[in-house]
Amino acid sequence: MHCCIATMKQCNKIYYNRMPELPEVETIVRQLNKKVKSLKITKVWFDYPKLLKGEINQQNFKEIVEGKTILKVAREGKNIIFHLSGGWSLIIHLKLTGRILVGNDDFIAEDPYVHFKMELSDGIYLALSDLRKFAKIILEKTEKIKTLEEIKKLGLEPLAKDFTFEAFDEALAKKRSGKIKNILMDQSVVSGIGNIYANEILWKAKVSPFKDIKLLSLKEKREIYEAIKKILQEAIKLRGSTINDEMYRDIKGEMGGYGKLLKAYHQEKCARCGTPIKRTLEKGRATFYCERCQN
Ligand SMILES: [Zn+2]
Repeated sequence: MHCCIATMKQCNKIYYNRMPELPEVETIVRQLNKKVKSLKITKVWFDYPKLLKGEINQQNFKEIVEGKTILKVAREGKNIIFHLSGGWSLIIHLKLTGRILVGNDDFIAEDPYVHFKMELSDGIYLALSDLRKFAKIILEKTEKIKTLEEIKKLGLEPLAKDFTFEAFDEALAKKRSGKIKNILMDQSVVSGIGNIYANEILWKAKVSPFKDIKLLSLKEKREIYEAIKKILQEAIKLRGSTINDEMYRDIKGEMGGYGKLLKAYHQEKCARCGTPIKRTLEKGRATFYCERCQN
């Protein structure tokens, strides 16, 4: 397997806080709908029950989930939601190093970090691999998922029709002040944007990541809004970004293609003006920007 376990220490430093964002999770959800929709869950297996959060214990989890059918797979922010028959929903958040794998037994067995696995009808397995075991699994009644803390707090969904400029502007206004990059990554404002895409969006919009939102002009806010839509859509088309840690994979174990198109995140020179990209580190999270283009 390709992961960087031998250099974990280095990984912790450099890629701390790198997690799948909207384009990666959306890619996984679309693929899951093609592969596992309407399949029945015949067996559930865990070797690290701590991944299971919420009120339902491992034994009850098995009893509820086994025998259910996957009706459809959806996304809320960075959460993957399996809607099951019988009015139940299974929510998975991949956190830093989680991966969903779908395939036959041999394919799943190749991954040494599988800690949760479901056998489905048709001899297909759906597994959760997680090197660092921060991923989260929650089983909840479908009617109650909107009340879960993880879902309730989510702000605007950038792929939804109601993500208009007016709605975005209003969500910013509610925050009053704060650095624009931090605000973009705040899941209660816009959901699904993390460190990679926040850097890319601000590079495209030519706005400094450190600019306070109360100082943004109308034009800058419009540029940021347009960049959110454009970049997320382009990244989804290429099945998300796998960067040089090679951590993110889709459900077939393949890398995303958008990593090669990144313009700021871990880049050396600005693709617009050639100025070296500046990098600053705050609480383990790196910000990349062009001092000349982004004001
Ligand atoms: Zn530049």
